[in-house]
Amino acid sequence: MKEEVARYPELRVFRNDAPQPEALYSTDPDLCCYNLKVLPVRWAVEEMEVGCWVTGLRCTEGRTRTDLEEIEERDEGLIKLNPILLWHEREVWQYLALHSVPVNPLYAQGYRSLGCAPCTRISNGPDERAGRWVGTSKCGGECGIHTRPLKQGLQFRGESAGPTG
Ligand code: SF4
Repeated sequence: MKEEVARYPELRVFRNDAPQPEALYSTDPDLCCYNLKVLPVRWAVEEMEVGCWVTGLRCTEGRTRTDLEEIEERDEGLIKLNPILLWHEREVWQYLALHSVPVNPLYAQGYRSLGCAPCTRISNGPDERAGRWVGTSKCGGECGIHTRPLKQGLQFRGESAGPTG
């Protein structure tokens, strides 16, 4: 992240620095993801007055992403564009190689879908996201930034809260 911010200084980083319960990722991963991922995205959407965002979501990534569409409006006033929705993993790597795009060095270790350290394993097989939240009910699932409302129920900056969406 620091390398990319140095490369593109116009980038802004939103994060929740509020203290979290010990090992919340193992006791309540949904709440952990809500506090550490969903809330900062909500703050970003609000502070930057985002009306449209572009994602790297793909239908072939795993069981939770098969029904997505290239243009979505799950939150009123927040358009989501998914331009590589129909790409397969192989096409992503072809594009990255052809255009010399820098990638996270963890991919060179065999990771295929990257989340937070405690919740990410190297996976094989057809489901690219099978290494996420291994051993929990969220295995291969979603953190919530693509499934929970982002324009509703905004929390004050720095506040942690339970799931509301
Ligand atoms: S991926 Fe794991 S550590 Fe990261 S926010 Fe979600 S539960 Fe917490």
